[in-house]
Amino acid sequence: MKKGVMKYLQYAVVLVVVVILLCGIFSILRRLTGTSSTDDLSAGSAEAQTEANIDEKADNSVPMTELSVTAPATSIRVGETMQLDVSFAPENATNTKLKWSCSEEGLVSVSEDGVLTPSEDSAKHTVTVTGEATDGSDLSTSFELRIYPAIDPSKPMVAITMDDGPNPDTTNKILDAFEENYAKATFFCLGQNAGYYPETVQREYNLGMEVGTHTQSHQQLTKLSGSELTKEMEDSVSAIRDAIGVAPTLMRPPYGAINSTVLAEAKKQGLCAVNWSLDTEDWKTKNADDTYKMVMTATDGDVVLLHDIHEYNINAVERFVPDLIAEGYQLVTVSEMYAARGETLDPGTIHYRTDPTTAVMEETTAAGDEDGAAAGTDSSAADTDAVVGTVAGSTADEDGSTDGTTAGTE
Ligand code: ZN
Repeated sequence: MKKGVMKYLQYAVVLVVVVILLCGIFSILRRLTGTSSTDDLSAGSAEAQTEANIDEKADNSVPMTELSVTAPATSIRVGETMQLDVSFAPENATNTKLKWSCSEEGLVSVSEDGVLTPSEDSAKHTVTVTGEATDGSDLSTSFELRIYPAIDPSKPMVAITMDDGPNPDTTNKILDAFEENYAKATFFCLGQNAGYYPETVQREYNLGMEVGTHTQSHQQLTKLSGSELTKEMEDSVSAIRDAIGVAPTLMRPPYGAINSTVLAEAKKQGLCAVNWSLDTEDWKTKNADDTYKMVMTATDGDVVLLHDIHEYNINAVERFVPDLIAEGYQLVTVSEMYAARGETLDPGTIHYRTDPTTAVMEETTAAGDEDGAAAGTDSSAADTDAVVGTVAGSTADEDGSTDGTTAGTE
């Protein structure tokens, strides 16, 4: 029994020795081939650390912490470009390159130096333009942009003008009609109304409409003394500047009443006076049908007078805007129409309409029976000019025939 135990012990010792030897050999082998799992881990993290160090050395990167973009306007026409103003922080950010994209692919492109260009087929779209940081900071900035069709100077155009507003109840519905059709108009606001409803003036401006002044409180300027005249115009310019951030460059004198004193004051205030060549007499007829019919008699180059403070004009606008466009008219702002026709709007001067293009005049002359009507319209427009011209020319009694017909209303 004792002998048997000894024998088992001997076997056990041999077994232990063999196991120890095997472990030793295995351990040596592993060291030689460098495949120990512990070594693996430490080698891996060391490598990762080295890579990180290399990265840091490569761009020495200071990431952006703030990014924003300012567009000079919230709308643009096809054929125009705009310079975007990109601002970021900190000033020493390493990589300030942005990747630009548009909510509707391909409609807008932005160059490396921030010049935005709408594509030829982008008209009548409202898109969101986004600039994303490429420095891994995940910052992005975006803004909305309305894209209007290009103006073709060889095609007919009219400038619809709206006086006496804003009145949010009516002005907003009128704006809706222009917005829907990607059409523009000029709003001659009263300073006092702009003061009451700056957000409506802001909406006009943001939609790309032109905002001019119709004076502060609708006084007949030709009857005011020097200081009253100055204040009446100055206050309205301030009210509009407060609402939209920029001063108007156009003014429409109440009742169309103008003389050299008013023009001299306008010049001092950087304002060009614009009256009209087609009076819809909306204030007199007070119904949408008559106003609609009057507007539809407009010819190329007309400046059309309406008022955006009257409920009955909403329906007229909703109808004539698409119908004028369907007839081939471009609905543009006063400044756009003058620029397209190469005519200037200098401070201290008075204007009524632009000359029709040669192309449009030839078309009118060549049109058979309609000639009579068209010619009639043309000559009446010329008459209006002549009458108003006389009024503008006279310095003292400018409450002449033109003012007489509109006094107390326009
Ligand atoms: Zn008025």
